[in-house]
Amino acid sequence: MTSIPSPNGTCHLAQTKVSSYFGCNTFNDRAMKEKLPKDVYKAFRNAHRTGEPLSPEVARSVAHAMKEWAMEKGATHFTHWFLPMTGATAEKHDAFITWDEPGSVIERFSGSQLIRGEPDASSFPSGGLRATFEARGYTAWDPASPAFIIEGPGGKTLCIPTAFVGYHGEALDHKVPLLRSMDAVNRAALAALAHFGGTASRVAAQCGAEQEYFLVDHNLAQKRPDLLFASRSLQGARPPKGQELEDHYFGSIKDRVLGFMQEVEVECFKVGIPAKTRHNEVAPNQFEIAPIYEPANLASDHNQLLMEILKRVAEKHGLMCLLHEKPFAGVNGSGKHVNWSLATDGGQNLLEPGRTPEQNLQFLFFLAATLKAIHRHGGLLRAAIASAGNDHRLGANEAPPAIMSVFLGRQLSCVLDAIERGDVADASEQRILDFGLASLPQLEKDATDRNRTSPFAFTGNKFEFRAVGSSQPIAFPLTVINAAVAEALDWLTSQLEHEIATGKETAAAVLAVVRKAVTETKCIRFEGNGYAEEWKVEAEGRGLPHARDAVAALHIFEEATAKEVFTRTGIFTPEEYDSRIHIRHEQYQKALSIEAQVLREMAETLVLPALLEDLRLRADTLVKLGAAGIDVPEALKNALKGQTLLVGEAQEHLVALKAAMVRAESVDDLHACTKAYGTTVKQAQEALRELLDQAEKDCAAYLWPMPVYRELLAPLI
Ligand code: ADP
Ligand code: MG
Repeated sequence: MTSIPSPNGTCHLAQTKVSSYFGCNTFNDRAMKEKLPKDVYKAFRNAHRTGEPLSPEVARSVAHAMKEWAMEKGATHFTHWFLPMTGATAEKHDAFITWDEPGSVIERFSGSQLIRGEPDASSFPSGGLRATFEARGYTAWDPASPAFIIEGPGGKTLCIPTAFVGYHGEALDHKVPLLRSMDAVNRAALAALAHFGGTASRVAAQCGAEQEYFLVDHNLAQKRPDLLFASRSLQGARPPKGQELEDHYFGSIKDRVLGFMQEVEVECFKVGIPAKTRHNEVAPNQFEIAPIYEPANLASDHNQLLMEILKRVAEKHGLMCLLHEKPFAGVNGSGKHVNWSLATDGGQNLLEPGRTPEQNLQFLFFLAATLKAIHRHGGLLRAAIASAGNDHRLGANEAPPAIMSVFLGRQLSCVLDAIERGDVADASEQRILDFGLASLPQLEKDATDRNRTSPFAFTGNKFEFRAVGSSQPIAFPLTVINAAVAEALDWLTSQLEHEIATGKETAAAVLAVVRKAVTETKCIRFEGNGYAEEWKVEAEGRGLPHARDAVAALHIFEEATAKEVFTRTGIFTPEEYDSRIHIRHEQYQKALSIEAQVLREMAETLVLPALLEDLRLRADTLVKLGAAGIDVPEALKNALKGQTLLVGEAQEHLVALKAAMVRAESVDDLHACTKAYGTTVKQAQEALRELLDQAEKDCAAYLWPMPVYRELLAPLI
């Protein structure tokens, strides 16, 4: 398959100017301006800016215009589209129709249907927040995220991005806390900016999420229960050629893959996702797509949508898109680089070093706040990305370590060191920072982006959180960053006000506060190799938290500082927070339980029967050779003996895995159950896998019941 199929004109669009159709399937500002009466459009913009709810009249009018627009585009159905805590997106489609006269229908879509939906929420995880008798959940339109149309094979559906809340307003999704955290960081940033004479009226967290993924041939993937049900291979001997040659990274993109990427991009552009960059990644058949950054809530919606598009378009191209953090043992896993910054409504990036002394003071203030945030909540950041999948990459010499540190680059480190020393003359002599407050030198971008081993790196005008897993929703990691930075900004601002109250000039007061923060947070700054063993030792010496795996990381959520950073600004109520912890545990346990079940079934019904058949055939041959009067060489007998022992051992490990699963399932306590899965079940699974991988190498290839790594990782041409 080398060309792009074009059931809906994709092929044509791939050769069209993107600007001519970008966002054509979104009810964006342009569409609204065109479709809404002027006063309604104004009222809507106003409500959007102030965060006030829409009046019923405005809602009715917007709903009508949205329906007309969607129907003109050929949509027949609508859905409230939301992000429950399963990590996937959820939707329930309704036709626009309603009874007109008996026996005939008309298309209708009311303001109340736009603003509020009531899906049966009882099957979505609530972490105990909702009793079944009040299982109702409500979806409420998030006007900050434009409605969009998804094209299915037989029709189109209007998707309305919504927040998902319980009967009493409790957050049941990833979006509500993210929006609340954006509010918190907005308020904190504005309060800080007031001291710098800024004129901003809003500050929004910005995010660009680079997404890595694997592609495998669909027909091959269909024959692997592990890829189908656990999204990663649970068994598979290493291929003869892995990524040793590193010839895949940034290599030329093969036509079959390019066709897929082009269609993905067209689908992205149509729904307003600003897909920008595509390239091959390090591992064979691993790729990356990166959009241009946007306000964090939009970036989060778009990343969820992008993951759906990747999977859907892959199927059309006879491929399967694997978003798992570690689909194949022995080759690099996939992550998501979450680039984060703060920008004012006037377009100023608060993490960009400026041209004037005042701008630079402001930059240093926001930089110091971010350092303070990570210093205080590095553990929480680690917990936010803890998952069964991410355990396979973090700290594994291919991904950032599980220890959270911040990389600033040499130039900025020198600046901060100079500030810490208070060494005015030295600092200006080195032309690093003139404490007479001349401008900072333009940071060499390259110099800031060399260290790929850091989990949280400053890259010139933004931070890059590199430890997020490829399948994870970015909403929660973003919520944590926003919450932690909001808290730190509040702290720095109150310190600043205190300094000013003692009679200091603003500039001197800012430097004093920055100096304090920089000194206090020094231990999380690390410029060296994050993969090195010595770093683990050094980090421990510095007292940095090091949660090696998800089991350890999930404990961090229980710490008082973690709870406080969310509850102080109302990002989570204590009940909402507890429910999240519960769900994280459940998800971890479920992921491991599914993996164990799938491996058990594969071993029992596919691999072991094949291995026994292989033994039988070999034994038969030896017997027949003997019967024919041919001396059977000892080497052949020994090989058969060795193989038999191996298969016997695999059988024993299978029994052990089953026992570990039964034991883990029966543990009631949340933490103990997580631990049982994360230790005994996981170890039993790994031990069984190791034997099966070894046996695979000896088994007759034609008897092996599944495609092997060599086939799965073969170039897609
Ligand atoms: P790389 O990390 O591969 O070198 P870039 O640094 O150019 O690539 O950009 C990576 C991602 O960071 C892109 O999605 C880009 O839009 C995003 N990005 C760039 N500037 C900002 C910013 N100020 N805030 C948030 N994200 C940003
Ligand atoms: Mg990057």
